[in-house]
Amino acid sequence: MAEYKQKCNNCGHTDADFVSTGFLGCTDCFTALAETVNPVLTRMFGHATHMGKAASEADGDYTTAERLAMLEAELRIAVRNERYQDAAKIKSQIEKLESEAEK
Ligand SMILES: [Zn+2]
Repeated sequence: MAEYKQKCNNCGHTDADFVSTGFLGCTDCFTALAETVNPVLTRMFGHATHMGKAASEADGDYTTAERLAMLEAELRIAVRNERYQDAAKIKSQIEKLESEAEK
């Protein structure tokens, strides 16, 4: 068993498990192992950060908080279905929204 720094309290999956298998054990892993998972997703789908324009054009009448809640729900579903490419895109949208909200 490789050494690990982070462990998901829900399913026991570790960052070492993620690195060796490329899979997350459950939806909680995404946040529990974020430090390891995020850079991997960014490396795999680096272009995902360039999709902000379409997302902002589709803002509609939702508030930032509402959009964040929807994106987080989508993120959980994407991760549960092991759609990591979608998850990476959703995550970059969340980060963009959060950084805009802080301004
Ligand atoms: Zn887990």
